[in-house]
Amino acid sequence: MNFDEMNIDPKILRGIEDMGFEEATLIQAKAIPAMLKGQDIIGQAQTGTGKTASFGIPLIQMADPSIKKTQAIILSPTRELAIQVADELRKLAKYMHGIKVLPVYGGQEITKQIRSLKGGTQIIVGTPGRIMDHLRRRTIKTEFVKTIVLDEADEMLNMGFIDDIKTILEYVPKNRQTVLFSATMPKQILDITKKFQNNAKHIKIVKKELTVPNIEQYYYDVKRYDKTEILTRLLDYYNPKLSLVFCNTKRMVDEITGELKGRGYFAEGLHGDMKQSSRDRVMKNFREGKAEILVATDVAARGIDVDDVEAVFNYDIPQDDEYYVHRIGRTGRAGRGGKAFNFVRGREVYKLKEIQRYCKTKILARQVPSAEDIEKIRAQKVLEKLAPIIEEENLSKPLSDLEEYINITDYTAMDIAAAFLRLAVEGDKASQIGEYDFSNTGAQEGMVRLFINIGRRQGVWPADILGAIAGETKIPGKLVGAIDIYDKYTFVEVPREYAADVLRAMSDVKIKGKSINIEPANKK
Ligand code: ADP
Ligand code: MG
Repeated sequence: MNFDEMNIDPKILRGIEDMGFEEATLIQAKAIPAMLKGQDIIGQAQTGTGKTASFGIPLIQMADPSIKKTQAIILSPTRELAIQVADELRKLAKYMHGIKVLPVYGGQEITKQIRSLKGGTQIIVGTPGRIMDHLRRRTIKTEFVKTIVLDEADEMLNMGFIDDIKTILEYVPKNRQTVLFSATMPKQILDITKKFQNNAKHIKIVKKELTVPNIEQYYYDVKRYDKTEILTRLLDYYNPKLSLVFCNTKRMVDEITGELKGRGYFAEGLHGDMKQSSRDRVMKNFREGKAEILVATDVAARGIDVDDVEAVFNYDIPQDDEYYVHRIGRTGRAGRGGKAFNFVRGREVYKLKEIQRYCKTKILARQVPSAEDIEKIRAQKVLEKLAPIIEEENLSKPLSDLEEYINITDYTAMDIAAAFLRLAVEGDKASQIGEYDFSNTGAQEGMVRLFINIGRRQGVWPADILGAIAGETKIPGKLVGAIDIYDKYTFVEVPREYAADVLRAMSDVKIKGKSINIEPANKK
């Protein structure tokens, strides 16, 4: 079942669309309709399967924007998770005006939180200790609370929050909906569900046994903004005939395809929003090797059966272990060798560990090839092209030119050959680098952050920046993102697909009568 078959408010569907989710995950397909019916739920599914949206979507839908009181409380084990969950809910609620979501956690000044809470927040996400604190102070009141969610219940248990949780559950009205999500179900959690839930519906997503094809699998610990750089290094280093790059969202597919094209790679994107005719065209190009890199979502890649895929890149770690197996199974076909590369960041390593355990396979940590390694490979590629030229072509003219040059300089033939090799390698590199590098601007997903060398001292206001961009380019002002003005410079975010246009159009524009310099920001 997909999102549009679940009676979800069209305004939330728009939020989901913006996030680029292509298909509901299994837990979402089961939990969302049940939660919307008001049922108590025990949702059990492994990490990364989208449990946040499973409860987030129904909570947003069930919240009444005209009532400025707490209507849902989500308990979360850590401050980071509370913030993350609040962020995800805000994105989902982007078009639901009047719905406010606030994270509260220890370590943050309580008076500040109390002030924010006075603004009339319907959905609160917090760590148990801090929520309890607010309940005691009556700065969070429970009269209007319809739903309480225990997110990552097993984690909260591990962190010793069990008594706090019980206390909180005693506080909220008895006729509430109680929802619990957890990756595992230890006995103590089942005790909570017995005591505090009513006829809870147990939704458990079980994993199938799977066998992993015998191919080399590696992972690299990389930051989001370095992923594309590392992807291109690996592509240069291994030079696979055809490659598949997997992303978890449609937006990511578009973004990465753009980044790769910008750097001169033959890449094409494939996702469910595309018309059948364009999908067919992309697949044809890929099969014929006109596109060497196919960037795709899991759904779009379903059924792709191409023999020459020599590398699979998991740009995003898959939502589901099963997807992992499907993804990497696209390489190493027909007895050919294949490689799978995974990009993980921080905590995501645990997700990979889980995949390894479950799939009984080995994914080895690897160092990213250095610039030197790559230079060496490029030099080899150039050198490989020389033998046929020496063997088959008439070189008497360049030979006599070189002789003349050697006679008038002190250089040896080796010196000259080395210089040519350097030139050739650099030429090769230059042809692969696009006009602009947007890989590390520190912008939000889908956006590019641009640096402009004027700021408050020059009397610049956001409206000046907005006006200049909207005036010089065709991009509507509302698509321009955050504008941060500092004393001497300004940052502005624009959608990825317009960034190059904005840079070109703005290069000889004046703001406040001053010529400006504009370039991609560099987040390092
Ligand atoms: P869990 O709580 O199950 O560990 P999360 O809710 O944190 O998982 O989701 C993991 C990631 O997957 C998040 O980045 C989230 O935005 C993303 N995600 C959730 N649902 C979908 C979906 N239907 N399609 C694509 N990505 C999704
Ligand atoms: Mg979660």
